[in-house]
Amino acid sequence: MRSLVLIGHGSHRSAQAAEGVHQCAEQLRVQGHFREVVEAYWLEEPSLRQVLKTVQFTDVTVVPLLLGASDLTEYTFALELGLGHRGPVPVQGVNRVISGRTVHYLRPYGLHPLMQEVILARVREALAEELLQDEALLQDTALVVLGDLSGASAAQQQARALQERGLFAQVLTLPWPGASQGPPWRQLRQDIAQQVSAARAVIVPFVDDADEWCTPESLAAYLEHEDTLGVQEPTLHYIQPLATHELVARVVLELAVQAHKPLGGDLDRNYQAAWQQVLDRAAAGPLRVGEVLVSPQAGLFDVRHTLDEGRSHESLRTLVTLSGLWERARHDDTGAFRPLPTLRTLPRGWRAVFAPADLPRALQYLYPAVIEESVAHQNHALRFTPWAATAQRQSRYQSASLVTPMQVEQAAKTLCTRCLKTRIWAGEVLSQTFLSGAPGAIPCAEACTLLLSQVSAEGDTLPVSATI
Ligand code: SF4
Repeated sequence: MRSLVLIGHGSHRSAQAAEGVHQCAEQLRVQGHFREVVEAYWLEEPSLRQVLKTVQFTDVTVVPLLLGASDLTEYTFALELGLGHRGPVPVQGVNRVISGRTVHYLRPYGLHPLMQEVILARVREALAEELLQDEALLQDTALVVLGDLSGASAAQQQARALQERGLFAQVLTLPWPGASQGPPWRQLRQDIAQQVSAARAVIVPFVDDADEWCTPESLAAYLEHEDTLGVQEPTLHYIQPLATHELVARVVLELAVQAHKPLGGDLDRNYQAAWQQVLDRAAAGPLRVGEVLVSPQAGLFDVRHTLDEGRSHESLRTLVTLSGLWERARHDDTGAFRPLPTLRTLPRGWRAVFAPADLPRALQYLYPAVIEESVAHQNHALRFTPWAATAQRQSRYQSASLVTPMQVEQAAKTLCTRCLKTRIWAGEVLSQTFLSGAPGAIPCAEACTLLLSQVSAEGDTLPVSATI
């Protein structure tokens, strides 16, 4: 029995950044090849530091849901997971035993040869109407792959392989112009006009850090910003983002199966004990966790915002699926993205009903890693990481290690006071947990990336008011 962990970049600003990882996880859960599929993010929660504490089994396969290998997959992710590995990940992955779990950390999915099928499927979607008229159309079509142009990059590898298959008139790679409007997009259009000799070109963004930039609408808006270049140009077509195609789940499955044979590891008894404690507590009467109320109801559990306690079923919108709950919890009452699940901004006006088997995932969606860390804290087994160690480890926020304790406290005063958690990493005392009847008593074992970004002068920095 194995746990599969899909990890992504995540974002402090955009709810869309986690979409691809979430969709892929949902598909793999439905397919049932793994007993458990868990999502984790660098910039969102559950974080990479937390996720191995939340998995159920001792045999854990971790796949970065990124298209290409980079510093992120070869250094940052590996460090955050505690793998003690730096540098390129071999084809068979990096295998480590961490806290009694055997962890198999694999290469990003974009390097797998099956990605060519994902690209072809997206191209066929983009040209669906034209292909109905003329099946041989691809022979007069150029594929323009936008991405990293270094020889070993995933974009180059996949483009080369597609070129060798001879399906298209041309396959060329050009640099991704970057996620901001400007001259690089005009240069890209000029390059396409100069280098493409086919009647049409399909634009394939092979990039991870673009999110909303990868939609056909955005690409068309920036690439065709000016009416004409005054030269002959091919007709441009745009694919939907690769990351959200349903075939990506198959690529991930192939990667995991090829990387190693199932080990049939033991169940993690601590994990089971933690969740049993929560289920027993919820079955015995209403359980309050943060802003969430879980009430037993005829063998099921009614889950809602604590401020909606006592409201009639008719007055609340019922969420029938776990995915519906995941989506709802990611936005506040105004529709703004909630970059941290434990911010005191959980929306109201909904209710969800789950069987006992689904309650753990529902609570993980609402409050990732909170149950496991709270149970560990209650058992005096939660280890915390001081600010200096976190800031030094998170290389993207290097300048955070240079700030004074007073500056950290200043930022924490603005951000952490809006969060349910208590900063045990900063010496704050938490003598209870939600399990002993204090709903808001949730430990924070390590500064989150949102606080790091607020303190740091670099990276994903936004004014606090803009991110909450
Ligand atoms: S560092 Fe502050 S904002 Fe971040 S999770 Fe901990 S308490 Fe919440």
